[in-house]
Amino acid sequence: MMIIRSGKNSFAAMPGEKKINIAIDGYSACGKSTLARGLADALGYLYIDSGAMYRAVTWYFIEKGTDIGDPAGIRAELDRIDVRLERRGNELITLLNGRDVSEEIRRMDVSEKVSEISTLPELRAKLVRLQRAMAEKGGVVMDGRDIGTVVMPGADIKIFMTADFEVRVQRRMAELKGKGIEATFEEVAENLRHRDHIDSSRKVSPLKKAEDAVLFNNSELTRGQQLTWARNWAGVRLTM
Ligand code: C5P
Repeated sequence: MMIIRSGKNSFAAMPGEKKINIAIDGYSACGKSTLARGLADALGYLYIDSGAMYRAVTWYFIEKGTDIGDPAGIRAELDRIDVRLERRGNELITLLNGRDVSEEIRRMDVSEKVSEISTLPELRAKLVRLQRAMAEKGGVVMDGRDIGTVVMPGADIKIFMTADFEVRVQRRMAELKGKGIEATFEEVAENLRHRDHIDSSRKVSPLKKAEDAVLFNNSELTRGQQLTWARNWAGVRLTM
């Protein structure tokens, strides 16, 4: 198989070995992107933040002043939207029609509207196509809501993340603060509740745990402990 052991049960990619794909799904603000990025860095893999792609499309329509509740208006524009993720140094940059929108997509107004837009089947089909193309050659850690179920059902490792609600709110608040965005506990809590609800109840590819995903509650773990757990789990999973 394509793994070597480096320490008890943990794995690391060997140069020239076939690269696997890792899918990480879960609720908003569970620490998916931090873990996915950490794993990708540790393995020399590509990190793909699928949520950033949905956010970029949302920003496109906010800037344009399009009514988010008008699916026909949104559908009519989809062919004019190009979304790409590009690695620059240590950063993952989100490009919307060639323009760097990495900062704009973290705004609260984007967070408030992104889940509604993400219910649109035509938009999902477009982004899923792009995401699959990026994962075609392997060596990808992708996080989102439908990665293990729809985008990469054949992923070698699937993790479904969850954390206690209050922990999630605090983490998201700290993240926003780090980006200079002020939001109250209640504002963030309301946004997470709202997105959890829409994401898990939508008709097309709702957020749910893939049958072969492992459930990982990280409420009480530091970032380092989460990464160690994930590397160990990958080592165990690949030998099952
Ligand atoms: O991951 P992040 O919280 O940035 O995602 C923002 C939103 O994009 C989610 O709340 C969800 O509505 C949507 N999304 C999705 N499918 C994905 C990734 C994100 O529907 N694979």
